[in-house]
Amino acid sequence: MEISELFHSIQGEGKRAGRPSFFIRTNFCNLRCRFSGGNLCDTSYTSWDPDDSHNIGKLTVAEILSEYEKINCTDVVITGGEPAMQGDELNQLVAAIKSSNSGAYITLETNGTYFGDFAQFTDLASISPKLKSSVPYGSKYESMHLSNMKNSQSLMRFAELHRAGKIDIQWKFVFTSDADLTEIMEYEKQFGLRKEDIYLMPEGISREELDRKRKITAEACIRHGYNYTDRLHILLWGNKRGV
Ligand code: SF4
Repeated sequence: MEISELFHSIQGEGKRAGRPSFFIRTNFCNLRCRFSGGNLCDTSYTSWDPDDSHNIGKLTVAEILSEYEKINCTDVVITGGEPAMQGDELNQLVAAIKSSNSGAYITLETNGTYFGDFAQFTDLASISPKLKSSVPYGSKYESMHLSNMKNSQSLMRFAELHRAGKIDIQWKFVFTSDADLTEIMEYEKQFGLRKEDIYLMPEGISREELDRKRKITAEACIRHGYNYTDRLHILLWGNKRGV
């Protein structure tokens, strides 16, 4: 698998925020987010600049599993980049983690543009559909991002699996301003999402930016009945790797 980094930290976002977790960050993404305020993706070393010189590179499923087994940790977070780009190796990884530790709780952080067998071994899919406020307008990636950013068929399959009680899902939207709300409400309607499963997270890669956006994000949650999630890892350590 293409791996950017492996580390043991605290989940900073969503309903498992605060849980000590083993993070498996895959390399490469099919999107190139640049948010309306100008920030690039907060892990641009997996998307805009996925250079092996600052990422681990290739590891086998067995090698990743052996790193996980060195740490006594129930929560495993598979994140990226876009982990579902790893194809069958992702299927093998989630199956291997579950058979090695039946108590493992796997969160898969994904932009939702791929669906696959991995979903049946995933406890929580943390799906972060990307909105128009993420499009890198004027860059060479604009058309690629626009054509990849929403896969309705994949999102519908996740939503159906959730309704069948076979997976938990949190729909986590990066919130840049109230202008995002129309699109978020469209997702809610199109995929039949429950408000209790929707999280808004202030966009920002520094404490100062989060401080500026926290209030408008929380106010939007109150008005619309969504959940608020912060970004604890940024508050604790700033925008650093390996945390
Ligand atoms: S989908 Fe996620 S990893 Fe990919 S570019 Fe956007 S923020 Fe970065």
